[in-house]
Amino acid sequence: MDSSLNARRRARELREVAEERVDVLVVGLGATGAGAALDAASRGLSVAAIDAHDLAFGTSRWSSKMIHGGLRYLAKGQVDVAYESAVERGILLRRTAPHLVRAHPYMLPLTSALSRRQAALVMAGYRLGDVLRAAARTPRRLLPGPARLNAARAHTLAPVLSGDGLRGALLSWDGRLVDDARLVVAIARTAAAHGARVLTRCRALRLSDQGATVRDELTGEELTVRARAVINATGVWAGSLDPEVRLRPSRGTHLVLRPGTLPGLIAGMHLPIPGESNRFALVLPQRDGRVYVGLTDEPVDGPVPDVPEAPEEDVRALLDVLNGVLETQVTREAVAGAYAGLRPLLAADGRTADLSRRHAVLLSGGGVVTVVGGKLTTYRRMAEDAVDRAVSSRNLPAGRSRTRKIPLVGAGTQPSGVPARLAERYGSEAGAVHELVKAYPEEVGLGITEGELMWSVAHEGALDEGDLLDRRTRIGLVREDRDRALATTRDVLDRTRHA
Ligand SMILES: Cc1cc2nc3c(=O)[nH]c(=O)nc-3n(C[C@H](O)[C@H](O)[C@H](O)COP(=O)(O)OP(=O)(O)OC[C@H]3O[C@@H](n4cnc5c(N)ncnc54)[C@H](O)[C@@H]3O)c2cc1C
Repeated sequence: MDSSLNARRRARELREVAEERVDVLVVGLGATGAGAALDAASRGLSVAAIDAHDLAFGTSRWSSKMIHGGLRYLAKGQVDVAYESAVERGILLRRTAPHLVRAHPYMLPLTSALSRRQAALVMAGYRLGDVLRAAARTPRRLLPGPARLNAARAHTLAPVLSGDGLRGALLSWDGRLVDDARLVVAIARTAAAHGARVLTRCRALRLSDQGATVRDELTGEELTVRARAVINATGVWAGSLDPEVRLRPSRGTHLVLRPGTLPGLIAGMHLPIPGESNRFALVLPQRDGRVYVGLTDEPVDGPVPDVPEAPEEDVRALLDVLNGVLETQVTREAVAGAYAGLRPLLAADGRTADLSRRHAVLLSGGGVVTVVGGKLTTYRRMAEDAVDRAVSSRNLPAGRSRTRKIPLVGAGTQPSGVPARLAERYGSEAGAVHELVKAYPEEVGLGITEGELMWSVAHEGALDEGDLLDRRTRIGLVREDRDRALATTRDVLDRTRHA
């Protein structure tokens, strides 16, 4: 079946869903829900998957974009969680999304903030991480082992580092996503290719073991979606649909630095947070030249907002950690944007920074399966566990999960002769996108052209300018960039809708 998502397909499939009874209704189209839709559809089940807003509207687009082997969990003795991460990282790198996930080097500068003993402990952790890599059968050629660098080599990878007291750096490798929202789009389209009805702008108002009352957010109309099993994959909002689920959200903020702010930075960096033994800030250079700096971990109470705000104190705190290692200080004015996401952690006693990143699959008294916690890296495993639970609790006619072996849309052979940026974002579809880009080459921002926006409307389910600027592209992370791109984006939408 075709993987393309667009307004026409949405309208048709919404009508069909209102008339049928599906095997599985998945609520929420972040990485976890999109993963569950793919898992269930590829087992031969009929699936409807809905989101109140858009693909990747929630936490999945606010991550650090790392596909990681779980070093932090190792440090806490959670070897099983770390191993699961390492296995899932290997699956993404080797089989399901090699176009979207690449190995990337990260450096921990050895400054006076890190004692020799701490450095030795970190290196031991890196070596253990490398053992897990091997156990997860990810070859060294895809993910090189850790190394110690002298100060001169550290400066080559990060010329911005202050030379004062720099003893060198510890180098490690991990997976990096070209963009988290693109991963979700690829999963959702692959689910659609397996027959799942993927419907954005459809809000679940109430869930039961028989389905959901759903509101079409484009028309305000309510409909009943009948289903044999219901999976609640609404992340940090899961408790609003199932009161038995208790979450303790934790906010993580990232800064967005403009291209050129940290010149010559090749490697990512782990920076020790003063006063914390096992927490590091991350400096994450992106393909588009921007650099993200994260990440805080602060418990949040009260109602969960649609789009969390990055508070000024988080911005200042991150800048302080960053400036602690730089030769030339980054000023507040140089921070072009900031974003925050809420981790959907299960409620438990203790600091949110210490709460387990393990995922949980819960079957509530009402018969709804809820899947929460975990991380982007392990979305596939979370989805598999949730669908297993739905299948067993409702006796659905389905075999075992097949998603370990299903390449996501774009994972095939990359065409030659296309710009590297397109190849990285679109993989095997880059040739078709390139043709559109050649026909509509006007730039909208960050090197992205009108042709790419048109592709997103025709194939990636983008319905409005927010979908295009904030999720299919990340132009919207910096307000001025967004404002500059808005008129052209609206124009593209108008032209594409009337084409
Ligand atoms: C700051 C930060 C950094 C992180 N960095 C990393 C990282 O580098 N690597 C990693 O592996 N993990 C990372 N994580 C964790 C990871 O991002 C999350 O665990 C993951 O994205 C959660 O995905 P999800 O699909 O479960 O939830 P979400 O992405 O939040 O999806 C839930 C969806 O449900 C929808 N929804 C809500 N209510 C309704 C309703 N009533 N009806 C219909 N739809 C509804 C929302 O619109 C949303 O799209 C990070 C998390 C944070 C906060």
